[in-house]
Amino acid sequence: MKPARLLVLAAVAALVAAWFAFDLGRYLSLDALKTQREVILAWRDAQPLTASLAFVAIYVAVTALSLPGAAILTLAAGAIFGLGWGLVLASFASSIGATLAMLVARFVAGDVVQRRYAERLRAINAGIERDGAFYLFTLRLVPLFPFFVINLLMGLTRIRVWTFYWVSQIGMLAGTAVYVNAGTQLAQLESVGGILSPGLLGAFVLLGLFPLIARRLVDLVRARRVYAPYRRPRHFDRNLIVIGAGSAGLVSALIAATVRARVTLIERHRMGGDCLNTGCVPSKALIRSAKLAAQMRRAEEFGLAPVDARPVFAQVMERVQEVVRAIEPHDSVERYSGLGVECIKGHARLVDPWTVDVDGRRLTARDIVIATGAEPLVPPIPGLREAGYRTSEDLWDLRELPARLVVLGGGPIGCELAQAFARLGSKVTQVEMLPRLMMREDPEISATVQARFAAEGIDVRVGTKATSVVIENGRKWLVCEADDGPLRVGFDEILVAVGRVSRLGGYGLEDLGVRTGRTLEVNEYLQTSFPNIWACGDVAGPYQFTHTASHMAWYAAVNSLFGPLLALRGGRFRVDYRVIPWATFTEPEVARVGLNETEAREKGIAHEVTTYGLDDLDRAIADGEAHGMVKVLTVPGKDRILGVTIVGEHAGELIAEYVLAMRHGIGLNKILGTIHIYPTLAEANKYAAGRWKQAHKPERLLRWVERWHRWRRG
Ligand SMILES: Cc1cc2nc3c(=O)[nH]c(=O)nc-3n(C[C@H](O)[C@H](O)[C@H](O)COP(=O)(O)OP(=O)(O)OC[C@H]3O[C@@H](n4cnc5c(N)ncnc54)[C@H](O)[C@@H]3O)c2cc1C
Repeated sequence: MKPARLLVLAAVAALVAAWFAFDLGRYLSLDALKTQREVILAWRDAQPLTASLAFVAIYVAVTALSLPGAAILTLAAGAIFGLGWGLVLASFASSIGATLAMLVARFVAGDVVQRRYAERLRAINAGIERDGAFYLFTLRLVPLFPFFVINLLMGLTRIRVWTFYWVSQIGMLAGTAVYVNAGTQLAQLESVGGILSPGLLGAFVLLGLFPLIARRLVDLVRARRVYAPYRRPRHFDRNLIVIGAGSAGLVSALIAATVRARVTLIERHRMGGDCLNTGCVPSKALIRSAKLAAQMRRAEEFGLAPVDARPVFAQVMERVQEVVRAIEPHDSVERYSGLGVECIKGHARLVDPWTVDVDGRRLTARDIVIATGAEPLVPPIPGLREAGYRTSEDLWDLRELPARLVVLGGGPIGCELAQAFARLGSKVTQVEMLPRLMMREDPEISATVQARFAAEGIDVRVGTKATSVVIENGRKWLVCEADDGPLRVGFDEILVAVGRVSRLGGYGLEDLGVRTGRTLEVNEYLQTSFPNIWACGDVAGPYQFTHTASHMAWYAAVNSLFGPLLALRGGRFRVDYRVIPWATFTEPEVARVGLNETEAREKGIAHEVTTYGLDDLDRAIADGEAHGMVKVLTVPGKDRILGVTIVGEHAGELIAEYVLAMRHGIGLNKILGTIHIYPTLAEANKYAAGRWKQAHKPERLLRWVERWHRWRRG
């Protein structure tokens, strides 16, 4: 603990100890107040200002030090100064004292608590940021909760000091007035507890609930306002309409059908959306061919005769489509119809909050789920459109390998495709504006991938901004500004992979005025600004993965279909983004769950880093893949996992153990105590846990154990 903190803690402890040692509390009793009243009143009459200031000083000190006696002091305010002036003094003194107590708690322990429990407190901090004033107001109004506890606990949160002060002052006013008023009748008072009758307490509870009720009312009024221009149908044809049959839409519709709701799924293009048709599936199929080609080129390394690993590009791309076709039935109209989902092909457009038009046909539903996905972002680079470009949407039509390919973008999609095309024989230049590839990952992870790319012949240009595309004598050039000067890269095809933007236009969101920003805006229940319109998947973010799309879909479907019933369990389900894993399927593969070191530092979260190098792992050595690492972040001194990054062969599979561990609060000790099959890559997880244990072995105990063995040896 820092010296200043220690000093404050020691000073507070000394003052509290003195209070009890000298039994100063005896002056703050009802009897003492009654017997000394005449003396105090005489003093007040002689020196009214000094008496007022002394009273405030004592009150502030007692509250700031969280000492018992605030109730008696509030009575004293009434007894000595009368209702009006007494209320003013007690109200300010109690609020200032409470704020000081809150600040002391924050100064002594706030930082430590926030750092140590940063992950767990994230939701609470967000709640305090959003609703802190409401909750504090409730707690202040209801005198059932000890005020000093509220002061200290609030100090551990991130509530703003000014908010704390004014909410406390207003919130405590009613209770303070009751006590000050009781103080004016001191002679009749027999006990402090007698001040609050059950009736009065009940009134306070109602008052306390008022802000929460008011908030719900505000929500209702807001909802009424957005619906005001529309007439709600008296009957609905369906319970749910889902727009978009990608990962998010398919899962929403499936859940609805499973719980016997009447659900219609509308898709304008191909069932399965991006993932099946232009995203995960084709990219992974392409990567498989490319990886095999790269491995075949290593034949001699494994004692095999060299082989001709020249890809036949058109056949590679045909295989990609075969893979898509093989998986297609999983997402097909036939399958979903069989499961009870009505599937309609066509372009959906919102007509009003309950009505969807599909190419002239009108359907109504009580709730609507928007799952329209995202599309590639194409930056406004002069000359790009004229020269022509590819994105992940139309890349799959290529049947001729581009001899020279520029990949614009160093994120996961750009990296996966750059390496795949390079391995299939294109001369690839990858251009990234930021200082390194895969900026979301830790620098050494990016460096590992970048080094491998360079070794495989990819010309990686980071810190390089594409400024225009020019065509000269029929040859296409990408013109860039790099950190080390201008650069021109000749190309036959350019693949734009600089990010994906939510699909927000062209289907009625704008006409209805559904609130949008970078994505379709949703609350924690995945409701849009129209409470019966929900959104999930890429269109609503914040993660753009197939598994997060399906995860969100569950919340959107369940919350929409069971809203009123969910009130019985305390409300709808809040979407949970605490443990989100992802992988980039380059070689080496990169997988992550939770925090990495960069994020932990940026957020000021205390952490320890443990790494295990895969060059040490038997199976990786046997497989000729002895490279990469497992990097685990834990809470200092504890085995609780904050995040894991794995870079290496099959990282995306290996991370699953840590995802499970984080999701269910399993620490490194348990992973270490679990039998892993020898020889597998999964053993790396156990060895990483072993490295952590090695660094935390109980040295003192081991010294005793050593003595025990020495004694046993005689
Ligand atoms: C190259 C690439 C590789 C990827 N690899 C991975 C990976 O390995 N792992 C991973 O987890 N994620 C990966 N992703 C991301 C993943 O594909 C998306 O996160 C996922 O598909 C999002 O699903 P969704 O349902 O939100 O949207 P989508 O799959 O885009 O589905 C939206 C659907 O809505 C339809 N639609 C839109 N508007 C309308 C309308 N008005 N009426 C009717 N229908 C409409 C569209 O036609 C589309 O079919 C990859 C993406 C790309 C581009």
